[in-house]
Amino acid sequence: MNDQLRSWAEVSLDRIAANFRNIRAVVGPRTAVACVVKSEAYGHGMVAVAKRLVAEGAPWLTVTSTQEGMELRQAGIQDTHVLVMADALRANFASMLDYRLTPAVHDLADLAVFNELALARGGRVRVHLKVDSGMGRLGVAADARAIAEAVRACPNVEIEGLMSHLASSSDFPGTQTGQQVQTFTRVARELAGAGIRPSLRHISASGGVVYGLRDAWLDMVRVGLSLYGYVPSASGPAPASLIDVKPALVWKTRVLSVKELPAGVPVGYGARHITERPARIAVVGAGYADGVFRQLSCRGLVCAAGVWVPMLGAVSMDMCTIDVTDIAGVKQGDEVELLGEGFNADNIAALAGTISYEMLCAVSPRVPRVYLG
Ligand SMILES: *Cc1c(COP(=O)(O)O)cnc(C)c1O
Repeated sequence: MNDQLRSWAEVSLDRIAANFRNIRAVVGPRTAVACVVKSEAYGHGMVAVAKRLVAEGAPWLTVTSTQEGMELRQAGIQDTHVLVMADALRANFASMLDYRLTPAVHDLADLAVFNELALARGGRVRVHLKVDSGMGRLGVAADARAIAEAVRACPNVEIEGLMSHLASSSDFPGTQTGQQVQTFTRVARELAGAGIRPSLRHISASGGVVYGLRDAWLDMVRVGLSLYGYVPSASGPAPASLIDVKPALVWKTRVLSVKELPAGVPVGYGARHITERPARIAVVGAGYADGVFRQLSCRGLVCAAGVWVPMLGAVSMDMCTIDVTDIAGVKQGDEVELLGEGFNADNIAALAGTISYEMLCAVSPRVPRVYLG
């Protein structure tokens, strides 16, 4: 299978579906699970993943940009709510409405813009208002009086959701999460006092679910990483993970060439590796343009013939070199795992000095995704 491909990613949609069901069971029936499929579903392929999650009953999909939301609609996902979480560009507001996407609003002045658009279309628009509860990134200041005033001035805008985002939900012990949840619930309470009662209050992503921050689950959680089978790594004494999810992506490449080198010769750009012994090397067909971090030069691992072996020398744009001296029988065309069950995105991220999120997003669009069902 795929014998003409240099590199590809095998994605198990069944695993993602099982992860979704697990998360849904953990948070229980009073909290909706919004499935975060931004950034090509963290490298798993946005449309295929979204379609499967819709078939599993996902009530909400969330994306970063209007363009991602449009792609979901154009792919035929018509009846599922799509929340655009982080597109503050006014140039996109009309398209959000054209495609029946739900905007997250990050600025009170934008409520008036949506109000005008709604009026021009002769209807109302539903938005989710994002408040900055203390992360210091997107979101309006958590001042309920100012929010209530702006909302009242925009009768054609319905505040369906009130949202925020946690900056440190995997940090233990820590005070930021508690403070953010407190700020958020205070604003929600004060808005309710002013007659504004969004039906969906949501602040938690995977970290808040995994580590059982139940005060933050509210009406909906927005989960990305955990759908894809990983838990955000915690710093400090975190409680045990509540969820039981499994990775859904295996990334493979093929051996392009195998050769024997004597001791004392350089391998790859910059001669960053010099053979220490007579060596058998294999050149494999994935490099940094495919998402193999260059930081893995001279330190990465790949799995060849069931054995994890080291990368030698610099990672090139389109290939890298591995040491197969100690494994017999490796030949051109053999499959090699760059990321798999035994060596997953957490392990690679640890070697490269990053996080599983970045590792998954790094698998480039030129690597075809092959769906296993
Ligand atoms: C990406 C994102 C999420 C999902 O985060 P995970 O940690 O992957 O679950 C939730 N909310 C917002 C606003 C995001 O940008």
